[in-house]
Amino acid sequence: MRNPIVAANWKMHKTPSETEDFLRGFVVLAKAGEPVDIVIAPPYISLAAASAALTQHDSIKLAAQNMHYEQSGAFTGEISPLMLREMLIHYVILGHSERRAIFGETDEIINRKVLAAHQFNIKPILCVGETLEERDAGRLEEVLTTQLKGGLAGVSADQMINTVLAYEPVWAIGTGRTASSAQAQEAHAFIRSVLANLYDPETARRVRIQYGGSVKPGNMEELAMQPDVDGALVGGASLESGSFWEICRAAAAGATRKASA
Ligand code: PEP
Repeated sequence: MRNPIVAANWKMHKTPSETEDFLRGFVVLAKAGEPVDIVIAPPYISLAAASAALTQHDSIKLAAQNMHYEQSGAFTGEISPLMLREMLIHYVILGHSERRAIFGETDEIINRKVLAAHQFNIKPILCVGETLEERDAGRLEEVLTTQLKGGLAGVSADQMINTVLAYEPVWAIGTGRTASSAQAQEAHAFIRSVLANLYDPETARRVRIQYGGSVKPGNMEELAMQPDVDGALVGGASLESGSFWEICRAAAAGATRKASA
């Protein structure tokens, strides 16, 4: 069985002191422990504060929201995998739809980042997903296949098992409009079938695929009960510690019900 993984994508929110405040509250809530992997992705500038706040809580892992693919060089404003590794950052979100749409990241650039992350033992959380126009035009499978093939080029089966995928329909991100659990399951099952073709069925079975797009405490459990949904990548609802904790608990509850069904 795959352990669910729930990640908080804070985007451009929370200063270092706000990060400390959040984590002070969150670690108290999380003390009891839940059978989900919990990842928090603050802005770069708040990673050091987060790392210090989590020294006694190493089950909660940190992620960066992006990185460059080179290890150093003349890339003003960029952060490298070497730098993240030294800060003991375990995950990096790559290919988020905001990076693709606002910052022009292509599958080729994202692929270079995925490969660089693995080189430095940082697990990529690779985001894929279609726009509403693409879905309405019947292009869901084509878009997902292109993003997966492009983003995962040259990734070995061993590296794939240490890659997390996030299915994030662009029309559901920050809009309050969640994909139904049936829509999420359909896309996740399709993604797993693409992985089985690119790798093998066993590798495909082991890869965790998060759902992302307006996840809240109230819709997480049903999403997590879907056979191919392994947790969530959460934006807006991860900014408040109580709400993020409820999502973690709901993901755990959904996975437990799924296992016993
Ligand atoms: C995201 O940005 O990855 C995301 C899913 O955002 P939200 O939960 O706010 O829709």
